Amino acid sequence: MCKMNKKTLLLISTLFLTLACNAGASPQTETPPPASPTIATASIKISTPTETIPSQTPTSTPKPLGVFTLSVLVDTTSEPVTREQAQTLVNESSRILYGLTGFVFEMVDFQEINTGASTKDMVQSYLNTSPAIIPNGIILFSFGDNGDAKRYGGYAYTYLGPDGFRNPFIAPGAIQRDLYVGVIHFRHRYAQCGYGDSNTPISDVSIGGECRGQAQVACVGKYDYTICSDTVNHLYASTPTYFSSSTFVHEIMHPFGELLNKDHYGTAECTDMMQSGRSARRYKRDIFDRSLAEFQYYTGMCPYVFDNFVNSYKP
Ligand SMILES: [Zn+2]
Repeated sequence: MCKMNKKTLLLISTLFLTLACNAGASPQTETPPPASPTIATASIKISTPTETIPSQTPTSTPKPLGVFTLSVLVDTTSEPVTREQAQTLVNESSRILYGLTGFVFEMVDFQEINTGASTKDMVQSYLNTSPAIIPNGIILFSFGDNGDAKRYGGYAYTYLGPDGFRNPFIAPGAIQRDLYVGVIHFRHRYAQCGYGDSNTPISDVSIGGECRGQAQVACVGKYDYTICSDTVNHLYASTPTYFSSSTFVHEIMHPFGELLNKDHYGTAECTDMMQSGRSARRYKRDIFDRSLAEFQYYTGMCPYVFDNFVNSYKP
C-alpha cells in the first residue's frame, strides 16, 4: 500500500535545478562543522577554491550504527544495469549515507525484471517470489511509471511488506510492515548541456533551459557526456555516478521526512523546521545562493530528515 501519492513525491532533478539557480556565483569562505559531531569526517575541497565542506568519506571507518538492507531490481525494459554497476552505486550511496547518518546500505539481492509492468507490480512480483531476505528497502532501476524517474531522476514511496515482516526502520507516517521503495534512473546526468530533447549533443552551448535556465553556457566534455562548464567542479559531478548515488540516498530518505515535497533543502518549511531546533546539523539557508555545496552534501534534502532516519531505527 502506497503511503505517498506520486504527485507528492519529490521531483529531485527539478528541485535541484530550481534550487541551484545562482548557486556558486560567489565564492564562499567558511569551514562548516561536520554534519554530525558523532561521525568522523575529513574535509575536501569542492565547488570553489575557497570553500570546504565535510566529506562523506571518513578517514577511518568506525563500525556503522546500523545497516539498511536493499534488494536491487532492474527493469530491463527501461535500460540494462549489471549487478556490478548496481553494486558500485550501492557502495557510493552507502558512503554518502554513512557520512550523513552513520548507517550503511547493503545490497542483499539483485534481480532483473522484464515484464514492463508498473513499478508497484514489479515490486509485488518480486515479493511474491518469497525472497530469502525481506529487505528494508527496494531500489528499482527504471525509467519509472510514465517515465517519471527518467524525467526527474527518481521518486519514492512506501510499500506494504509481506505478512509478518517487521522493518526496524519505521518512518513517520509509516507502519512497521512498510518497506521503502526508490525508483531511480540509473544514468541520470548532472547538468547535461547541449542536448535539448536529443540523446546526443546538438549544441555547443546550453539550450532549452539547461544549465539552470542560463542560455549560452559553454558545454564541455566530462565523463561520457557534455556538462555545463560552470558545474564541472560541483560535488554532484565529482564522479560519473555521484548524482545518481545522491538521488538514491535522497529517495530512500523521502519517507522519513514529514513535509513531503517540502522536505527539500532550502524550502521555507525546511528553514522553519531547522530554526525550530529539531536538528543540530549545519544549515545555511540564508546564504543559499552561495551554499550549493551544502545543498549537494545533503543530497538536496532538508537536514532534519537524516535525524528522523537515524531515530526511526528500532532494531
Ligand atoms: Zn525529493
